[in-house]
Amino acid sequence: MLAAVINKPNDLEMKEVPTPVPKPNEALVRVKACGVCGTDVHIFKGEFISPYPIIPGHELAGIVEQVGAGVTRVKPGDAVAVDPSLFCENCYFCVQNKQNHCENWNGLGNTVAGAFAEFVAVPEANLFKTTLKDLKHAAFVEPLACVIYGHERARMSIGDSVLIFGSGPIGLLHLQVALKAGASAVDVVDLKPGRLEIARSLGARNTFKGDDPDLTKALRDVEPRGYDLVIDATGVPKVVENAIQYVKNSGKLLIFGVCPPEGRISISPFEIYKRDLEIIGSFAIKKTYLAALRMMESGYIKVDPLIGGVFPLPEFPTALELMASGRADMKLIVTP
Ligand SMILES: [Zn+2]
Ligand SMILES: [Zn+2]
Repeated sequence: MLAAVINKPNDLEMKEVPTPVPKPNEALVRVKACGVCGTDVHIFKGEFISPYPIIPGHELAGIVEQVGAGVTRVKPGDAVAVDPSLFCENCYFCVQNKQNHCENWNGLGNTVAGAFAEFVAVPEANLFKTTLKDLKHAAFVEPLACVIYGHERARMSIGDSVLIFGSGPIGLLHLQVALKAGASAVDVVDLKPGRLEIARSLGARNTFKGDDPDLTKALRDVEPRGYDLVIDATGVPKVVENAIQYVKNSGKLLIFGVCPPEGRISISPFEIYKRDLEIIGSFAIKKTYLAALRMMESGYIKVDPLIGGVFPLPEFPTALELMASGRADMKLIVTP
């Protein structure tokens, strides 16, 4: 089969590799769609925990081609969305239902072969049968599951006001989840007018250009006391630092975007104390995949406006290059 193989950091090759044979309790999935993620760029550059060589691709959906011994929940021909997380369920964190901190963590496309390939072998437990007709939509279930976990962490209340920095695919998923979860209003800040237009079409109340010199005044005019929940979906430390001022007294800041590990910000501990602020992190997925799939299948979460381009598998290097250079405004999907 054809696969994208990262032989070692900064060395990507499209080549023929043996098609995997499903082991007991695994299924072979014919990949129909796989989203390109910032993590894939980090794996390409050698900035992730991946062993090499590795086939990346963890935002995937496809059709079951063949099943290994003992598989009972799916059969060949079933359309499936795939949770890429491989938890050991046996370590200190897993036994306390904190699997996203699994001490023996693995992930399809992260540490074992992923889905920028014609086929991928997947444990049965990670397969979710889906009624979604367009499997490009199913490729959004993984990022949506991360966003839903972030919302679980943030414990938003019905009627809360929400401010989101960043209206790429992740920010726009946060926008939609916040609205479905009962936000009274969601405002969005981004540098790119095109993205803000999509945010408005998906229900944002107000949108603001992030480089507007009057941004602070504009946000104060709308919410003089600040927002109950502020979400960073940019991963830019300076944006996170500036975001704290917009959190209402006794409100929360959710740090969701992936900042560079060496990034540092300055905060006032007095301000956190005096204003009763909560700063919340959110890492990856924790058993939120099915919730995400159900929200996709209901049609409540719109992802067509979040698709920035569709590439056949041989053009994966072009898609990765677009992503790495920051020229991809929206989610790129590879369809083997
Ligand atoms: Zn991802
Ligand atoms: Zn574990």
